[in-house]
Amino acid sequence: MNSATIAGVEVSTEHFIGGDRVGGEATFVDLSPMDARPLAEVARGGEREAELAVAAATEAFPGWAALGPAGRAAHLHRLADLIDANVERLAAVESADMAMLLRSLRARVIARGARNFRAYADLAVAHEERVWESNGTLNRVIRMPSGPAVVITPWNAPFMLSTWKTAPALAAGCTVVLKPAEWSPLSCSLLCDLVQESGFPPGVFNVVQGIGEEAGAALTAHPGVRRISFTGSPETAVHIGTAAARNIVPFTGELGGKGPLLVFADADLEAAARKAAGQYDDAGQVCLAGTRLLVEESVHESFLELFHRFTDEHVLGDPRDDATTVTPLIHPDHLARVEGFVERARAHGDQIVRGGRRREDVGPLFYEPTLVVPRSNDSEIVQREVFGPVLTFQTFADEDEAVALANSTRYGLSGILYTGSEERAERVGRAVRAGTLWVNTFLVRDLTAPFGGMGISGIGREGGDYALDFYSDLKTLQILDGTTA
Ligand code: NAD
Repeated sequence: MNSATIAGVEVSTEHFIGGDRVGGEATFVDLSPMDARPLAEVARGGEREAELAVAAATEAFPGWAALGPAGRAAHLHRLADLIDANVERLAAVESADMAMLLRSLRARVIARGARNFRAYADLAVAHEERVWESNGTLNRVIRMPSGPAVVITPWNAPFMLSTWKTAPALAAGCTVVLKPAEWSPLSCSLLCDLVQESGFPPGVFNVVQGIGEEAGAALTAHPGVRRISFTGSPETAVHIGTAAARNIVPFTGELGGKGPLLVFADADLEAAARKAAGQYDDAGQVCLAGTRLLVEESVHESFLELFHRFTDEHVLGDPRDDATTVTPLIHPDHLARVEGFVERARAHGDQIVRGGRRREDVGPLFYEPTLVVPRSNDSEIVQREVFGPVLTFQTFADEDEAVALANSTRYGLSGILYTGSEERAERVGRAVRAGTLWVNTFLVRDLTAPFGGMGISGIGREGGDYALDFYSDLKTLQILDGTTA
């Protein structure tokens, strides 16, 4: 087996198909975000691996579906226990590969992977079929597992996001082929080891490593696939949606965000400013981040003073150090992309009021926390997702203008609202176009609540029954009253 030793942990760099490791001649180089040097050479899948993996998932499907929710739940719970037992190894590898803060991975992000499997295992078992009488018949709605599902995930929080999408698919009775992102493929390889150790039947869970346009495109185009679940950018979603449409296969897309962070004069300004400065954590590589700071005019000076004070406290550095809050960007191409946004903003006449430069003194992929006051709301830096440590700052005069600004982009994934008024929270909360809006808090999640985006931020919903329904074909069984067995 080809493998790499990452942070002292041996990680297979091969695919995982039908319960076996599968290598191949072609590889791609996975870079370390810490020094932009090669971390591992990983198998580079294409048509052949897509074919093998979908065949394995198709063969395993009837047996997995026949286990029923309780039989599948036993496997998912064992897997969750193994994830909990391996937090240290998973966190170490993910931190080296994606440069997420090690302490967050240890304290909550990896554990959330285990929680995802437990939550969906239990939800599928607890599900009660809808049954009612009408027109002299008994109506019964049955969830039928759909078949092999392809899951495609992005490079940020790769372990957590892969489990978030895989758990409902497996709980609903689908088999899975996962294609992790090529910039952070390693923690998902460890997940394969845990799946194997927890005794899943071969072919129920498969991983094809590789480049999006190769492995990803081959998997999404495969006619044997019955569901496609994607998290990534709206641009890639167009390709995935097109492939899904060709085979008339449902797909969901959890896509990019450009969330507003609204601060009203009646808010706890200190809490709001601290949260705003916190949007630079993990170098802003967070889809749910509130990247457009929208602050009521009357308090904008006091807010900015606090915001700068809290932002000054940030420490750029190694994600494994406890003091670090701002990590490097994932890849040289991503750094160039982030930098391109800021340079175009500068050229366009937007004001860079803090940051706006690389920090090569810390490492080759670091970028300074940056704040931009745009020339107008049409500026590219306001309208497009940067996905880095770059925030914009604008003011509003009243609630109507606040809502208009919040709703002025094509995105609608999430938002954050700071106010001291319950009535305002209710009014503004209803008016802002976002799949999730947090009021005076951030990132608190109930896994049974719907999760997804409006506009170009998404199609479909994950979370709770919404995800279980996506991976199921709903059937209505209609039985004439008086029919006896
Ligand atoms: P991306 O769209 O470039 O890639 C995502 C995945 O798609 C990768 O695995 C990639 O290999 C694959 N891919 C690329 N082209 C493909 C193709 N033609 N066919 C099939 N697969 C293909 O996104 P990224 O840069 O990895 O991630 C960042 C984006 O993800 C940001 O927009 C971010 O906001 C978004 N995101 C959204 C959520 C959410 O829950 N809404 C969560 C995390 C990240």
